[in-house]
Amino acid sequence: MRIAAFTLFLAAAFWASAALAQEAGMDLPETVPMPELRPAEAPRRPGDARPRFPVLLLIPKEDSEAAAKVCKAILDKDKMVAEIAGAALWDNGCGAVGQMTISAIKLPNGKQIALRPSALIRCETAEAVADWVREELVPATEAYSGLARIDVAASYHCRPRNNIRGALMSEHGRANALDVRAIVMNDGRRFGVDLRETPIQLLGELRRTSCERFTTVLGPGSDGFHEDHFHLDLAQRRGGYRLCQWNLPVPPEPARNPQRVADPSTRQQPTP
Ligand SMILES: [Zn+2]
Repeated sequence: MRIAAFTLFLAAAFWASAALAQEAGMDLPETVPMPELRPAEAPRRPGDARPRFPVLLLIPKEDSEAAAKVCKAILDKDKMVAEIAGAALWDNGCGAVGQMTISAIKLPNGKQIALRPSALIRCETAEAVADWVREELVPATEAYSGLARIDVAASYHCRPRNNIRGALMSEHGRANALDVRAIVMNDGRRFGVDLRETPIQLLGELRRTSCERFTTVLGPGSDGFHEDHFHLDLAQRRGGYRLCQWNLPVPPEPARNPQRVADPSTRQQPTP
């Protein structure tokens, strides 16, 4: 008797909720569907090597508007040819609010130094690159016929550091880094960290000036992943810690006269 009453109660409750749902304009499905887990939220078994799909985050309007304002103020300084890119942030740490695609640096004389391919980077990083090119790279390359173009190896790229699975997010993933493959002179010469004809003195200037202006500079000898390009970024670290790791090639030994080196008394003698 009790069971029959309970069954009757359940039926009444179902009918009442169905009636309410119909009144609210809802169509009741025949079976109640379970909520579908998005791939990003799906539980993962240990050792599951399948790629995880990142989820785009919602950016507060005031944040994207403030960042766009900063970018516009940088563009208005007329130091580069660039387009402001939309804000995008992913739940895996990739993306940036306030970024631009920069295709050339403008010089005060009206000349443009092209970036090939164009680079997607945060607006403040883009300005730092433009300042470095205008104030350091252009004067440093004057003796070599002048700077014509910068060949870019990478800019924004959502990936862990050095593409190592499980490593921390690269500054490239935050649109905060630029990899330079080579710099091209007006006479067509192409200089880079692994290009043999590159003057060591010029490489030294690139290293000195970039290490002064960027918080991370990595080149050959840093970690084995920067042997054919150099990396610049503006990562913020605790205590203002900076990283400048870039070994210059060892200059060839000057030809020696074995006799003169062997006898110290001859060192002061004027060369005949
Ligand atoms: Zn890099």
